[in-house]
Amino acid sequence: MKRAIFPGSFDPLTLGHYDIIKRGITLFDEIVVAIGVNSSKKYMFTLDERKQFIEDAFTDEPKIKVMTYQGLTVDFCKDINVDFILRGLRNPADFEFEKAIAHTNRDLAPIETVFLLTSADTSYIASSIVRDVIRNNGDYTKLVPKSVRLK
Ligand code: ADP
Repeated sequence: MKRAIFPGSFDPLTLGHYDIIKRGITLFDEIVVAIGVNSSKKYMFTLDERKQFIEDAFTDEPKIKVMTYQGLTVDFCKDINVDFILRGLRNPADFEFEKAIAHTNRDLAPIETVFLLTSADTSYIASSIVRDVIRNNGDYTKLVPKSVRLK
């Protein structure tokens, strides 16, 4: 069984993430959406909220699981016995950044990183932009799945 993790902060889940996960399940038997917890980072949404947004977006999709982790992504992969990391690429800056991380991860463990290019219509979306729109009372609903709503 081919399993991958899709790691990230998901603060919050966006239509860009959603697109990569949906397309990822055509390649893998299971995808664990893995929310990384970094105690020195400030988040707009709590861990529970971020987890709930993802679970609610994929209630009809049994191949998607949601988990949280701390520490190195490759250690988490070993813990849950996953061989692949799925990542999305939006632009050259993402590529350079992701290349360094993927090489480092390969040095640390025999885990392959698989990249999917973003779909053209969601390639400009980033969680940081969504947070900015929310902070400034803009209509963020066009950028996120329906499960992502402010209380
Ligand atoms: P991180 O904190 O690692 O940046 P994110 O939650 O922002 O986590 O992103 C997780 C993954 O989703 C990364 O691989 C990132 O490149 C990808 N991603 C983010 N936004 C998009 C998008 N609009 N289209 C496709 N992939 C995206």
